[in-house]
Amino acid sequence: QKTLPIQVLLVALSLLWSWCSYHFIAYWTLQFAYPLCVLLMLSGVVALYFHTPSLLAFVIPLWFTTPIASLMLNQQINIHFAVVWCIFSLALYGGRLILLRWFEEAWVQNSYNNQLINRLDALAHRDPLTGIANRRAMNSILHDAIDNGGSFALIMLDVDFFKRYNDTYGHPAGDRCLIQVADALQRSTRQSEDVVVRYGGEEFVVALPNTPLQGAEMLANRLCEIVRAHVVRLKNGENLHVTISVGVYSGIPTLQNHWENLIDYADTAMYTAKQRGRNQAVVYLPSMTA
Ligand code: GH3
Ligand code: MG
Ligand code: MG
Repeated sequence: QKTLPIQVLLVALSLLWSWCSYHFIAYWTLQFAYPLCVLLMLSGVVALYFHTPSLLAFVIPLWFTTPIASLMLNQQINIHFAVVWCIFSLALYGGRLILLRWFEEAWVQNSYNNQLINRLDALAHRDPLTGIANRRAMNSILHDAIDNGGSFALIMLDVDFFKRYNDTYGHPAGDRCLIQVADALQRSTRQSEDVVVRYGGEEFVVALPNTPLQGAEMLANRLCEIVRAHVVRLKNGENLHVTISVGVYSGIPTLQNHWENLIDYADTAMYTAKQRGRNQAVVYLPSMTA
């Protein structure tokens, strides 16, 4: 429906050209009139090959004009003219098939490229070990949050004594532990809104849009409990409890109160939790940075 006015215009244009060509050929017997008509049709093919109704709208009037004009000029079917017209018609049909195939190939390649870009984009924003969002993804989420202007809470957490864990049980066991922590965090947050990010090493950030401080603090305490309650079963059959230290900050990100500040505040609160003996959640207070 959107292309209908264009097709009407094309028919009008083609009829105008047809009328001119008819007069050029039938009355003025101009030498260049027939090649001009052919050129016009070919230009129509190149421009409109991918849209059959528009192509036909432009080509059909011209297509019929040339034999009719020839009949008027010669008073009978001119064999020479008829052969040229048939060859031209075949060239038109063949050319259109070739161009259509090129167009389809380009389209398939374009869809493939778009899929590839989407896959690479998804990979670039995922942490390869845990499969959750990475720091790059977090940056764009926080940028969006600033644009939306709502309140925003950040939870920053770090696995306690993780170096010791690695040294005792080995790095592969450490990796499995990080995957389990990431899983536990993701299962404990709102799937649609909250974003769990692996910030680096054994540090994670949970970004909570439209969440007041109270809600964020409750969640932080719950995360401490959930990770603590989560038993990591080691290969030697031993059961182990992993703990985390958590920092909480809630505020409205603005251009002045940049999101990097929010991370800083949550980080400061987290280090206070470490100093206070780990395995706990602490809410940021301005006195912590004073
Ligand atoms: P704290 O309670 O103060 O946080 O002590 P910590 O031992 O957890 O902290 P530290 O920064 O000393 O050690 C962090 C450890 O995390 C060291 C590093 O080997 C380990 N780590 C970081 N990334 C990975 C990872 O991808 N896999 C494994 N297995 N270990 C990691
Ligand atoms: Mg750390
Ligand atoms: Mg640690």
